[in-house]
Amino acid sequence: METLYVELGERSYPIYIGSDLIRADVLAQHIPSSQVMIVTNETVAPLYLDTLLSSLPGFKVDVIRLPDGEAYKTLEHWTLIFDALLSCRHNRTTTLIALGGGVVGDMTGFAAACYQRGVPFIQIPTTLLSQVDSSVGGKTGVNHPMGKNMIGAFHQPVAVIADTQVLNTLPDKELSAGLAEVIKYGLIYDPDFFDWLEHNMEALREKEPTALATAIYKSCRIKADIVAQDERESGVRALLNLGHTFGHAIEAHAGYGAWLHGEAVAAGTMMAVNLSLKEGWLSIADAERIERIFVAAGLPVKPPRDMTESHFRELMAVDKKVVDGSLRLILLEQIGRGVVTGSFSSEHLSATITEMTA
Ligand code: NAD
Ligand code: MG
Repeated sequence: METLYVELGERSYPIYIGSDLIRADVLAQHIPSSQVMIVTNETVAPLYLDTLLSSLPGFKVDVIRLPDGEAYKTLEHWTLIFDALLSCRHNRTTTLIALGGGVVGDMTGFAAACYQRGVPFIQIPTTLLSQVDSSVGGKTGVNHPMGKNMIGAFHQPVAVIADTQVLNTLPDKELSAGLAEVIKYGLIYDPDFFDWLEHNMEALREKEPTALATAIYKSCRIKADIVAQDERESGVRALLNLGHTFGHAIEAHAGYGAWLHGEAVAAGTMMAVNLSLKEGWLSIADAERIERIFVAAGLPVKPPRDMTESHFRELMAVDKKVVDGSLRLILLEQIGRGVVTGSFSSEHLSATITEMTA
């Protein structure tokens, strides 16, 4: 087991990474209360709830199972967590445990931020994406019909348990979506990690536990470093959005869920790569390496076929933002070095959108 500390002053916490970590000796030290509420969903509960329950001897444990899916990441379903806490008489010293992917983690964290003005919570992320991304950084929340993650709070967990064993049941498509964010960390921050990923992609897709543990450790290390520099996203944290502005347009066009977030990020990153090339930063050889790694990870490298130039312009509000100068993108100066910038040529951006939708 590896332990990585996210350094945020008095809100610092450990991330445990390894195999078979859902155990009493890992969990109990982080539960100051006698009461525990596990929040999970109907897909993950049959797989891992028994293991978690048997790791909590001596605690008064209650469980709430939410329906599975981004469609249920709503205020309405979030309220069910409070209904369960209140009807099971949990007081303000209770501890919440999120057992599931990013949807369960975000909803549980936000409930922990609000229940009786804030209680501790532990994250047990069960998707690769949630292990490398949503469980680090303290952003929690739910969707509003008018926008994703529009209602939420910053609330750091007291501990994160990233168990590589639980990924064995994760569908391949979900694993690939998580790999998109893993590759992103190498691209924006760490050329050696990018090299390592090129050499270990096959092992990762085969869910080889030590390869997974290394990828999770490095990814969390990079995200934790960036978050420690900029907890509230006023500067460098924006680097984590590489590929996301183009990616969000793809998700919005395809309909959320039709393309997984990581798939949209991969195609969106290739658009950022194309623009970085035009700006004279990346070399063609590097752009090809990036395309190859996404393909090796089982990810798309182009937007959906039916998506046109005007879809992108509209969904990204390109024209309006170019006029008022507010369009900032994450581009790559080289593999391992991302920049947040508003100074790229709008002709180059137009050419990128035209080429990538051709
Ligand atoms: P998810 O939570 O919907 O999980 C994906 C699917 O895998 C679900 O059907 C889930 O039930 C299933 N699943 C989970 N673990 C499994 C396992 N071990 N075996 C089999 N199936 C399993 O999606 P996700 O990709 O984990 O997370 C996406 C969410 O995370 C989005 O809502 C996004 O907004 C959020 N997010 C938050 C942050 C943040 O900083 N807070 C960052 C990135 C993403
Ligand atoms: Mg993302």
